[in-house]
Amino acid sequence: MTPRHVVVIGAGVIGTACAHYLERAGVSVTLLDRGTVGNACSRGNCGYVCPSHVLPLAGPGVLAKTIPLLFQRNSPLRIRWRLDPALLSWMGRFALRCNRRDMLSSAHSIAALLNSSRSLYDQLFATEPLHAEWEQRGLLFVFRTPSEFAHYAHTDDLLRTQFAMPARRYDSKELGDLEPALRPGLAGAYHYELDAHLRPDRLLSSWRDLLLARGVQIREHCELTGFDLEGRRLRAVRTSLGDIPADAAVVAAGAWTPLLRKHTRCSVPIQPGKGYSITYTRPQRCPRIPLALRERAVCITAWKSGYRLGSTMEFAGYDDSLNRTRLDALKRGAAEYLHEPEGPLVYEEWYGWRPMTYDDLPILGRAQRVQNLVVATGHGMLGVTMSAATGLLISELVCGQPMSLDPAPFSPARFNL
Ligand SMILES: Cc1cc2nc3c(=O)[nH]c(=O)nc-3n(C[C@H](O)[C@H](O)[C@H](O)COP(=O)(O)OP(=O)(O)OC[C@H]3O[C@@H](n4cnc5c(N)ncnc54)[C@H](O)[C@@H]3O)c2cc1C
Repeated sequence: MTPRHVVVIGAGVIGTACAHYLERAGVSVTLLDRGTVGNACSRGNCGYVCPSHVLPLAGPGVLAKTIPLLFQRNSPLRIRWRLDPALLSWMGRFALRCNRRDMLSSAHSIAALLNSSRSLYDQLFATEPLHAEWEQRGLLFVFRTPSEFAHYAHTDDLLRTQFAMPARRYDSKELGDLEPALRPGLAGAYHYELDAHLRPDRLLSSWRDLLLARGVQIREHCELTGFDLEGRRLRAVRTSLGDIPADAAVVAAGAWTPLLRKHTRCSVPIQPGKGYSITYTRPQRCPRIPLALRERAVCITAWKSGYRLGSTMEFAGYDDSLNRTRLDALKRGAAEYLHEPEGPLVYEEWYGWRPMTYDDLPILGRAQRVQNLVVATGHGMLGVTMSAATGLLISELVCGQPMSLDPAPFSPARFNL
């Protein structure tokens, strides 16, 4: 039975997409956030909507590749080791998944969400008044070293043959014509033409306006403080601004979800994976196509309104400092590939906590210990891309409608939650 009123907790891109599709399904929705809409991890990210990123982080050879990175000062990866059982268990389980079988199993589930979201985004931008500088120019994976370029051919083959994800290959000579912002002498690139990009802060502010116009109640600076339960059913959501009666609730609190365990009765295995970005005004020789600079793991997105360097992955708990070494590593990495790696003016230096699961799959489904509570979190490095399909799936689940894709791989039950 469709619930009359649903409260969505957390107004990042995931909570906002859930609110959107619930409202479209005829539900009265309250969307609340302890801050403001889209002001956490969903703001300063790179804005790729990228089915090309179908492979999870854990894969064969990943441990051998990443262990040396932990000892490099400018590395895109850092772990602040501490005696934290949740972190150690997360790392151990991640390590166990660094094999081909688990990689492919996660990837097939990820692919379903990414591909569904990619088409839903096309529909959203065609039919809704959303303004986010949406463009479909693909994503260029750029390689500086011939050995990495040659090695990537295996991955490209896997994406093409198992995931129907074709790319156009460019050698060193052809690259300058395709993307003149790149320096000469790079090894080559693969262009995933089906990928797209948007400006995430604009998406969220435009989505907020749309939801308000459709009658969704948006409560900002409103923190979840608990649930009013009757047995195993919630009757109201307790917040810093008072109780909100609800027939069901969706927790979309991103990297904060583990901290809500006392209320949700779910111990989600999520670690905050901190990433950084720097947003500038556009350089004169601005890239035309979004770029993933592979050896340095730096991502670059340009919009009409600006230019962003982003990336890095730091497992440092809920550390909210801006680490200068990480920010500088973004600039140094970009300088190895681009004529003009930085824009003339810095708008913002930023960090965000990605909600990382060790199997790289989001957690979507009913919490086992509270019947009318649904979880939508753990989108890791791909929350923007996965948001539309997540919103639709959660609305189908809450309203008891047929599912647009198989929810089983994302079920909280896989962690016994
Ligand atoms: C550098 C970087 C680059 C990235 N690039 C991309 C990209 O190109 N493409 C892509 O798809 N993804 C990208 N990502 C990942 C993406 O940003 C995240 O997956 C996504 O933003 C997660 O969205 P979310 O809604 O789950 O979390 P968030 O946006 O963090 O939202 C969670 C919300 O919950 C609220 N909240 C928490 N606790 C409470 C409480 N108790 N009460 C009320 N509200 C609460 C928070 O205030 C917050 O607003 C990138 C991430 C980083 C860091």
